[in-house]
Parts: sequence; structure tokens; C-alpha cells
Amino acid sequence: MSKYIFIAGGVMSGIGKGVATASIGRILKSKGFKVTAVKIDPYINVDAGTMNPIEHGEVFVTDDGAECDQDIGNYERFLDEDIYTDNYITTGRVYQSVINRERNLEYNGRCVEVVPDIPNEAISRINKAGKKTKSDFILIEIGGTVGEYQNLLFLEAARMLKLRYPKDVLFILVSYLPIPSNLGEMKTKPTQYAVRTLNSAGIQPDLILARASSPIDEPRKRKMSNFCNVAPEDIISAPDISSIYEIPINFEKENLGNRILRLLGMKARPSHLKDWDKMVRTIKNPKKTTRIGIVGKYFETGNFTLIDSYISVIEAVKHASWYFSVKPEIVWLSAEKYEKDSKTISELKNFDGIIIPGGFGSRGMEGKIKAIEYCRKNKIPFLGLCLGMQLAVIEFARNVCKIKDASSCEFSETAEPVIDVMPEQKVLLKEKRYGATMRLGAYDCKLAPKTKSILAYKKSMISERHRHRYELNNKYRDLLEKKGLTIAGVNPQRDLVEIVEIKNHPFFIGSQFHPEFKSRPLKPHPLFREFIKATLH
Ligand code: GLN
Repeated sequence: MSKYIFIAGGVMSGIGKGVATASIGRILKSKGFKVTAVKIDPYINVDAGTMNPIEHGEVFVTDDGAECDQDIGNYERFLDEDIYTDNYITTGRVYQSVINRERNLEYNGRCVEVVPDIPNEAISRINKAGKKTKSDFILIEIGGTVGEYQNLLFLEAARMLKLRYPKDVLFILVSYLPIPSNLGEMKTKPTQYAVRTLNSAGIQPDLILARASSPIDEPRKRKMSNFCNVAPEDIISAPDISSIYEIPINFEKENLGNRILRLLGMKARPSHLKDWDKMVRTIKNPKKTTRIGIVGKYFETGNFTLIDSYISVIEAVKHASWYFSVKPEIVWLSAEKYEKDSKTISELKNFDGIIIPGGFGSRGMEGKIKAIEYCRKNKIPFLGLCLGMQLAVIEFARNVCKIKDASSCEFSETAEPVIDVMPEQKVLLKEKRYGATMRLGAYDCKLAPKTKSILAYKKSMISERHRHRYELNNKYRDLLEKKGLTIAGVNPQRDLVEIVEIKNHPFFIGSQFHPEFKSRPLKPHPLFREFIKATLH
């Protein structure tokens, strides 16, 4: 029987519930348990695939093709385990399957009700995720903040599970303790209210992770303990830190792993976080810096820079850099600036490497193509991801093959669609069937001999994750190759180009897939690793 740990958030959003969940997972895994993590997102969207990244951050893609919340990426990175579509629950998914079942007469004519049928569906999804991975622990992060209407039915699911298995369910509240600057004192009251709100949903937290800008002291621990009905040793200090990868180490300083085991009636076990600890020390004491420019468009929102849209790319750059004991300095470069003022492109010479990440639509596209041309001509290490690869092909077709009008039919009608839409995608677009219909999830790719890619991967068959509708048009393949573009990887089942490279360049690779989704902190992705290596020369 699996143990269930529910993680809910109090006081406000954005306090790191996802990373806290992932860190608990890492700790329990290091104690020798099999762990999986489930994310519940309370919105009606069936998945994250239809959401604008500026609105919701990155859309993370699993091997089995789910388009999910970026927290699933955190789980994979911290746990070093693949997470599957069952581990991603949304209100939309839950209602959709209940309604489908009702239409199929599977409720035998009885009245189908919000309670208990919706929480029951959530529970059966949680159990399915646990069974598939044969996990000892299922961590379930409930999105949103307690007190919202939206996640009430999921708190109800948690309460019902506790009633069924009183000894196997644990509740953790991740809360925030503000320190108002005019008072200079850490305040516990908002957390007390959050606990009361949880209580009114029939849930008593067993543990509180006290997020704050600084560590929580003893007097406040005692106060919270009294008012929140949680033992002082089960209030875990979780101050802000410079790297999220430090969190499992900090939690273990407070003995969190064994507190969880004790609360679930299990014997204490040592944690094995040596490799992780070593990595954290590298992060804190880098030998040098590498300067990476990311040319994108999903980061400007009012006065803020939103880096969440590219979170897996950023993490993949970090993992690869730490492998060489290097700190990456990531700079956000706006593609549209290069369109408005073409002279500004020369700023790229100040970078050790340039990445063009994935993206949709034509905004900023010409600026990105200019950046690619600059990297190709000035031998600046370049990594193009999905859209970045497509634009590298367009740039090569225009400037090397002299196909002046080369473009992608994603941007406009074009006489020279070097990037074209797949026939089955054409039908879907015409019928406006957008949700979960891209080329999604893991596909095989066969690498060509004597390429940088095969040297990086050290094997010839790989599997990588996709999320796109457009592809390199095979009609142009011969010409592109003749002019010097190397086709370094092809999907053997459908003969689709997955990787392009350029010779006589320190590093110039574009991949139709998203390698960033498979990078793990202690196992950097081969393409990112070689890219960062090239930036160090
Ligand atoms: N917009 C492009 C496509 O749909 C690239 C997508 C991406 O970068 N993920 O093919």
C-alpha cells in the first residue's frame, strides 16, 4: 500500500510548493523509497497546452505526450524519475471523464453529483498514478492556495482519502510568514488563518513548511505550534535561498524526511544526498562564468521579466554548466529589438553562446533569424530548440542556399515553405482542433555517423520529446545538404529531420525536439553539455 502525502499552500501563491514537493520526493527517494509526484491544477483547461506561457509559464511535456504544468518538470528534475500523464490532474480532465462516463451510462442511471463523484474521480487518478509507478509514496501537490473555491473539491478528495486510510495519509501546508518592513518582525497570523481554513475543509496539517525571507525562530515556532495545532518539531523552517537545489539539503537539516516517516508510523532511515550536496557546493563555488544569451519573446510582462516561460531551458543550461563547475550568467535578449534596430545585433559578440528556444507565431521571428545569421557567421556557439531549429533552417535556406523567400507556413503563406505543416496537422488546424493535437511526446531519432550530435550522445538511437506542428520540408533536404547543412538526426519511422548541424563552426546545432525536458541536475543533457563546453573555449 502506498502512502499519500498531500501538499497544499497557504497565504499566497508563488511560495515554492512545487519545488518543496519535489524536494520532499528527493529526500524520500534518497532513503531508498520509490516515489512519484502528482500535480493537481484547479483550472478548467484540460491541460496546459492551450495556455499562453506568459500567462502560465512553460508547458512541460512528458514522454507519453502530456502538456503539463511546469511543476511536473521540477518533479522529474528532483526525483530523476519520468512522470506520466496520469500524474497531471486538472479540473477539466476530471470533469471531462466523469461526464464522458455519465454519457456512456457507466453510472447505471444514478444521479451523478459533484460530491462525491468529482473527488472520487480525483482519487482514482491519484491511485492510478501510484500503481503505474509502483510507488511507496505518492506526493500530491494541490495547486492554488487554501481558501480558494477552485481547489475545494481536491481538498475534499484528500479528506476522503484520509478517512479511508487514516494511517497512510499525511498533510503538509506550505505557508508564508511575511516580515513587513515597517515592523521588522515575522508574522504568523496569516498562517494561522490558512490552517483554520484547512480545518474548515476537515483537514488538519501534520507538518508546516514555514517559508519566509529568513529562518523562523524558536518563539515563533512555539506560537505557531500552539495556534496551528502542530508539534514545534513539525514546523520546518524554509527560508529563501539562492538555489532551489539547496532545498532538500536545508529540509534535511531540519530532519524533515524522518519526521515524515515518524508521522506515518514508519522507522527512521538515513538519507543519501552526498551527490546532491556536492552539486550544491559546486553551485555555490563556481570556478568561472559563461555568458549565455537567450533570444526569446515570452518574458516581458509589464515591469517584470518572466523567466518561467523558459524554465526547463534555464535549468538545462545550469545543469550542463555545473557539470564543468561553471556558473551560467543568463541574459534575456529581445528578438524584436533586432528587428527595430538592426545595429543592436552586434551585442551578441559579448556572449559565449546563444540559445533560441521554442516558440509560436511570427512575432519576433525575423529578429531571431538575424541572431542566428550572426552566430553562424561569427562562429558563436548556437543551440536552436524546436522553433530555434526551424529558424536556423530558414536562415540557411535564405542566406546560403539563396532561397530569398524561404519561410515557415506557420508565419504566412509562402512560396518557399522550407518549414511546412504535416498533412494530418493541416486537417486539425482547419477543424480548429488545437488541444493536445501537436506532435507530442517521445519519438525515436537515428543519429548520423561523424556528427557532433552522435559524439555528444555516444549512441546512435535516441528518444526525445516533441511539441510542434511544423517540420523541415523534405523537398528542400537535398539542396540544404548540398549547400553544407548536415542532417544529423532523423526520425526513422516517418523520415522527419530532427537535428541539423553546421560544420566548421565551434557549435551550431538545432533540434526539432526539446532536449531541455530531459535534462536532470546530476545528468546534464548531452546537447546542452556539449554546447556549454563549446562556450568555455
Ligand atoms: N511553432 C513551431 C511549431 O509548431 C515550433 C514549436 C516549438 O518551438 N515548440 O512547429
